[in-house]
Amino acid sequence: MNIQESRILFEKAKEYIPGGVNSPVRAFKSVGGTPRFINKGNGSKIFDVDGNSYIDYICSWGAIILGHAEISVISAVRDAMENGTSFGAATPLEVELAETIVDAVPGIEQVRLVSSGTEAVMSAIRLARGYTNRNRIIKFEGCYHGHADSMLIKAGSGAATFGIPDSLGIPADIAKYTTVVPYNDLEAVKQVMDTDVAAIIVEPVCGNMGVVLPQEGFLEGLREITTEYGSLLIFDEVITGFRLSYGGAQQVYGITPDITCLGKIIGGGFPIGAYGGKREIMECISPIGGVYQAGTLSGNPVAVQAGLITLKMLSIIGVYEFLDKHTTKLVDGIQKAAKKAGVTITINRMASMFSVFFTETSVTNYSTAMTSDSEKYAAFFNSLLNDGIYLPPSRLEAWFVGLAHTAEDIEQTIETVERAFSRLK
Ligand SMILES: *Cc1c(COP(=O)(O)O)cnc(C)c1O
Repeated sequence: MNIQESRILFEKAKEYIPGGVNSPVRAFKSVGGTPRFINKGNGSKIFDVDGNSYIDYICSWGAIILGHAEISVISAVRDAMENGTSFGAATPLEVELAETIVDAVPGIEQVRLVSSGTEAVMSAIRLARGYTNRNRIIKFEGCYHGHADSMLIKAGSGAATFGIPDSLGIPADIAKYTTVVPYNDLEAVKQVMDTDVAAIIVEPVCGNMGVVLPQEGFLEGLREITTEYGSLLIFDEVITGFRLSYGGAQQVYGITPDITCLGKIIGGGFPIGAYGGKREIMECISPIGGVYQAGTLSGNPVAVQAGLITLKMLSIIGVYEFLDKHTTKLVDGIQKAAKKAGVTITINRMASMFSVFFTETSVTNYSTAMTSDSEKYAAFFNSLLNDGIYLPPSRLEAWFVGLAHTAEDIEQTIETVERAFSRLK
């Protein structure tokens, strides 16, 4: 595969952008090689600057569920842009998107639009603290909630309830308010729970240590514990919202959080985020309440229009069944190929998101996810990349199937995976 133009661009990018990328995982550090510079997408495919095409399973980390350059999104966005792209004033479209989200997501009675998932989580945390008048937050190891200070925290050593910064630049005085416990471990939560806890935040199905499912009773347990202590339960559904079902993970599992964070899919490929919840809680936000949060581009009409059209398409009956059928076929094909090649893998899957872990153990939390062999994943990744299949450049990320993936794409992917597995031995 000729990647000369990507090589040249990467060298130039490194001159002007730290590490050559605007988000770290794009630099291919954990898989090696040259990141491809993408200049076009269409349906299930993306194209790099050398003209190579790839079947895309990143899909902008799940945001692009309809496929690239989806015609209905493009034409709606074009119409919206012709009327002006930002006003810093209220617009009718944002009311429509808010109504659509409230109708779809069980736990949301009111919603505030922001510009990214990070901003949604950061604002939800402030709201939880403001509403409860408490400071502590409990989060789970391996869950990613964007890059706000209080969320870039790792577990302290031993039984320490104080978290420690997971990045330079985060004061220990901020980190100490976040406690990190293992995913799927209710006992650990109980041990660190007290009446200073403003909220427990969780990815109800985790997508950011690879896909990890909540074990039976985990989400129910979190709901019970938070209620018992008067803390809020925050579901970070930035990935799972409108992905696992039209109502997200909370609809699938029948657990209603107090606050829900959204992003990715609801912007149809444009920058957006949202946080919503019970009316009583949401009305603590300014201008009604004392929790301040604002944004120049919040509810941006172009992003909102793209989101509205995307959600409209997803509300069509049969959409999620279709995604499910395709993903089942792909995952079954990968399992069979691994068996045939004698490669040991564990696949975790929920609806149209899944991860392939190169490990023998079942993956239920961060430490078991970390047992996935990084060298094997890197070899697998590069083998597929060179054969025109684009996977996440990290073993701890999810693959996303979208509505644009065709039966032929799935077939071709399975054949390519077979080849990659046989090369791995
Ligand atoms: C992507 C993601 C975020 C952050 O969203 P950005 O738009 O990248 O800021 C937060 N939470 C989860 C679960 C995510 O997957």
